[in-house]
Amino acid sequence: MTDNCDFLVIGGGSGGIAAARRAAEHGARVALFEPARLGGTCVNVGCVPKKVMWNAAQLCHALELSDDYGLRARREGFDWATLKAGRDAYVGRLNKIYAENLKKSGVECVHAAARFCAKDAVEAGGKQYRAKHILIATGGRPTMPDLPGNEFAITSDGFFELPAQPMRPLLIGAGYIATELAGLLHALGSRVTMLLRKDRLLRAFDAALGDEVMAQMRESGVDIRTGEQCEEITRAEDGTLGYRAGEKSGGGFDCVLFAISRHANTAELALEKAGIAPERGFVPVDEFQNTAAEGVYALGDATPAVPLTPVAIAAGRRLADRLFGGKSGARLNYENIPTVVFSHPPIGSVGMSEESAAEAHGTENIRVYQSRFVNMRYALGAHKPKTLVKLVTAGADEKVVGCHVAGDGADEMMQGFAVAIKMGARKADLDDTVAIHPTAAEELVTLR
Ligand code: NDP
Repeated sequence: MTDNCDFLVIGGGSGGIAAARRAAEHGARVALFEPARLGGTCVNVGCVPKKVMWNAAQLCHALELSDDYGLRARREGFDWATLKAGRDAYVGRLNKIYAENLKKSGVECVHAAARFCAKDAVEAGGKQYRAKHILIATGGRPTMPDLPGNEFAITSDGFFELPAQPMRPLLIGAGYIATELAGLLHALGSRVTMLLRKDRLLRAFDAALGDEVMAQMRESGVDIRTGEQCEEITRAEDGTLGYRAGEKSGGGFDCVLFAISRHANTAELALEKAGIAPERGFVPVDEFQNTAAEGVYALGDATPAVPLTPVAIAAGRRLADRLFGGKSGARLNYENIPTVVFSHPPIGSVGMSEESAAEAHGTENIRVYQSRFVNMRYALGAHKPKTLVKLVTAGADEKVVGCHVAGDGADEMMQGFAVAIKMGARKADLDDTVAIHPTAAEELVTLR
């Protein structure tokens, strides 16, 4: 038996749900396929539970300042199980809300995995579904390297299942996930070691950001080992874990977590039946999310696009507007995507790093404005971590092409600056904006 729809969406994560609901709101008959919990990586094993953990870590930091403010508040232990239970219950509520929202929008939700049987048809749960338009929104999953002993290690998926706090974790990787988890575990009281194969954290960002975060993490007590490429995970007789990296090694860990990037969930889709050839697992798309097969689209982490939830959501809504909402030119502009790393301290960034701006515009055509200062939050105590703000401008009119912050509040600061930069703000426009005092954000409109 075949069910005929207008739009089939494979994957019930952020991008798939956004596209499905928008299409249904435009009047399309939509079926969405998801064998697991609704909400995908972001809701279940990503942004949402991570932010809950980060909030807990932020509370720990606030308590550390309490003496300076005369509060004498004390942390009397920390109950990981309570935090996990509250976090899991919150995620469970979100799963339900997603299901209700799909229903409200009129999307049929099929709790089964879908595979292509033709370019205009999929099979799921023993039934065939056919449509003129099919979207691949199957997301990605963390990569576990093929190393001896990897069965002793976990990835971020396993992190969210841990029933107890790892007190002596080893985090391998240098990107978003390793940095975020290292920072929050350290704040919650774990003795954290990080293993980097190169020399710096967060190399995809402006170098000043990675340097700043790395220096502050080291100062706070995180053991960051650089230039060590893990080749093996070992387990000692007492059950503790270790690693070997060439001549070097380490041990005594109770948890080893790899966070070395993610890969696309496309292996089970039978893409060949649709005539699509993945590249390193990713589905190649053009700027309108079209794949090589007419009527088949892909977005989010299943494609080579930057793997961020709001990017997938924005691409999905625009695609639905284009296919069913009469907006033939609708597409996501992938330039100037703002992003935050919930590290300690957090990083907010939009646009080009100094390095990439110099490459794109020529060193002689860019100008860099930078300041490091102590946030007033630390004015009363001896501990005075710095906040770094940095602007990169290009051309004679000094258009702002990059805006970067590492420090308290960077996470909430960046959205507004991203609007200005997306609109083409020049340095003079920031200078013309009256500062909000006393804040850390004001430093970005008073840079000289
Ligand atoms: P990232 O791409 O951020 O970083 C992974 C890094 O690990 C690489 O850049 C590389 O750094 C290092 N690495 C790669 N292979 C190895 C290896 N074999 N051994 C040791 N180190 C290695 O990946 P993540 O897994 O941290 O996160 C995946 C994506 O998820 C992110 O890119 C981001 O888009 C998204 N995400 C977003 C978050 C947010 O918005 N706050 C939070 C978490 C994830 P180097 O080359 O320097 O060694």
